[in-house]
Amino acid sequence: MRRLFILLLVCTISALAFGQDTKTQPANAAGAEPPMLGISWAQDSAQQQFLNQQPARRSPNMTYHGGVIMPSSNVYPIFWGTSWPGYGGDKMTGMDSFYSGFNGSNYAKTSDEYTGSNGQVTATTTSRMHAVDGSAATGGNQTTPILNEVCKEITNGAVPLDSSGNGYYPVYTDVPRGNAGFCAWHSYGTCSGKRVQIAFFFKLDGDAGCDPQDTQTGHSQGLAAIANVSAHELSEARTDPASPGAWYDSQGQENGDKCAWTFNVPYVHFSNSTIWKVQGEWSNAAYTADRLSQQQRSEGLSRRTLRTTSAETHKTLASARVFLLHVNAALERGAVCNCAGRSWVEHALRRAVKIL
Ligand SMILES: [Zn+2]
Repeated sequence: MRRLFILLLVCTISALAFGQDTKTQPANAAGAEPPMLGISWAQDSAQQQFLNQQPARRSPNMTYHGGVIMPSSNVYPIFWGTSWPGYGGDKMTGMDSFYSGFNGSNYAKTSDEYTGSNGQVTATTTSRMHAVDGSAATGGNQTTPILNEVCKEITNGAVPLDSSGNGYYPVYTDVPRGNAGFCAWHSYGTCSGKRVQIAFFFKLDGDAGCDPQDTQTGHSQGLAAIANVSAHELSEARTDPASPGAWYDSQGQENGDKCAWTFNVPYVHFSNSTIWKVQGEWSNAAYTADRLSQQQRSEGLSRRTLRTTSAETHKTLASARVFLLHVNAALERGAVCNCAGRSWVEHALRRAVKIL
């Protein structure tokens, strides 16, 4: 027993320690390095393997930590590296199309259920055509050089300074991942005193650890790979953009982390009729609605009983209502990762509608 206890304790401590790691990287000596958030771990990295092995928790839902969310997001992509000015492939036009079609998509709506101190996430995304900086790019092992690059491009006028606090500046480098265990991350900082969200992406061409294995959309492998982790990072920036954090679970995992490398469908549709192979995003409401329907089925609870029981049940019902109102995106099953099977959406919706 004692041994088991110690083993459990060790597991718990390492889980906690790891939770910290997924949430924040150690700061540099000066303590000024912005934290890496929602790191997209490579599929074969020790970190992702560890996360895959974690047993299901009693409630895996994310909780709110008091911070802001991004009510809307204004995206200013930057392609950084010496190879970009002469680039002739599909990544730049592809990512412009990706961000344009993200706006108002069912996929984007799967993050709309979350609220913060400054309002509610909405699926509204504006985006600009990408900017190109042909100077030599750094890797993403530190966040400060990426924040500096964003501020530099703002100063140069290549991208505007978004004073709303909802500016999101993804930086696509031409640096291969090498031995790094991650594909991408997001973070935040300030340029000229304004809060900006930033994200970093390696070049993922021919990189099996960061490859979604897209065989349906016609995108080049390199574009498909950065698009998938772009969906992950933008969804996280919208729901957990800054300090103090907004939405993440007991292990520090944000909505993209919880669904990393989980694909329910070959592709999802964006609002501009483009298709993308992108991972699902975690929906607390979808999970709760699913649990509710299972509970009702297994315990034979009547609608009346559910209505008149505990405050907890009422909270659950409220979540299910939010799910119905705001996460109709679940109808596009690939957009949420916590779907229990083929008939899940129809079943959970039917049940929830009956109850409500
Ligand atoms: Zn992440």
